[in-house]
Amino acid sequence: MLLKDLKEIYHKQLDVIYGKEEVGSFFFLCIEHYLNLPRFQLALQPQFTIVKSETDMFFKVLEDLKQQKPIQYILGETEFFGLPFKVNKHVLVPRPETEELVTLILQNINKQKNSKAIKVLDIGTGSGCIAISLAKKSPNTSVFALDVSKEAIEIAKQNAKLNNVEITFIEADILSETTWDLEFKDLEFDIIVSNPPYVRDLEKEEINPNVLNNEPHLALFVKDENPLLFYRAITSFAKNNLKQNGQLYFEINQYLGEETKQVLIDANFMDIELLKDLNGNDRMLKGIKK
Ligand code: SAM
Ligand code: GLN
Repeated sequence: MLLKDLKEIYHKQLDVIYGKEEVGSFFFLCIEHYLNLPRFQLALQPQFTIVKSETDMFFKVLEDLKQQKPIQYILGETEFFGLPFKVNKHVLVPRPETEELVTLILQNINKQKNSKAIKVLDIGTGSGCIAISLAKKSPNTSVFALDVSKEAIEIAKQNAKLNNVEITFIEADILSETTWDLEFKDLEFDIIVSNPPYVRDLEKEEINPNVLNNEPHLALFVKDENPLLFYRAITSFAKNNLKQNGQLYFEINQYLGEETKQVLIDANFMDIELLKDLNGNDRMLKGIKK
């Protein structure tokens, strides 16, 4: 089959769902991924043909896209902070807001004058995107990463290998104080970071169906009555396990900026900063342990 005919079929069937531009970019991602072709190849060789097994594969992808399955899950990979990450249905697809959080942390690490080795913990690591980017971009850092999901830890381990970094992975529930005693008794960190679940059930309505139907609910949702439970637990944990002047970073729910900030104020953190993402929404919180 001619590759350009296939492209036309993609547009015909998908433009109504995603718009022309996004479908074009899906198609190019697919030809890069499955055919190992650079995206300009089609322009250079309009008569480029693909064999039956390849055509079958592209039609399967087309079906998945029609069902609004995220392209990252279809391909099984994505990019975060310029690095490759494997993803599957057990981990959240890393978001651009989270890249902003990583940038903020790296800026602060680089500001520090002494280049002493530092210890970092990422709580709710999912694909490992935060932990692995920090390990990669800040070499003098020893990074620990925790998740309650065995399947997520499995993917995060593969991603650490893929990116050639050493991370200490811990499979445990951060809401359980037993975890704190068992896993972290004598460990103190310079930095603790977390992008925990923070979307309230009441916000489900505004969540895109492709997120709602495909991404792990364990990674996303919290009960309406207690949306800050992870922030409270992690902040108490950080009171014990951050060094003096250690830094705590959170990605947060945009509608709960002030309330989440109050959690750090109540716990006596200092230099608290509530920061916005590129869309102008409250998204990051930083505090220093006294
Ligand atoms: N850090 C990744 C990122 O930024 O893309 C994933 C963040 S995702 C919003 C939250 C993660 O927290 C999920 O991987 C989920 O499995 C994990 N998680 C949920 N409940 C947890 C718990 N009680 N203890 C530890 N991790 C938990
Ligand atoms: N930013 C994610 C979303 O909008 C939510 C991430 C989280 O719950 N920590 O789907």
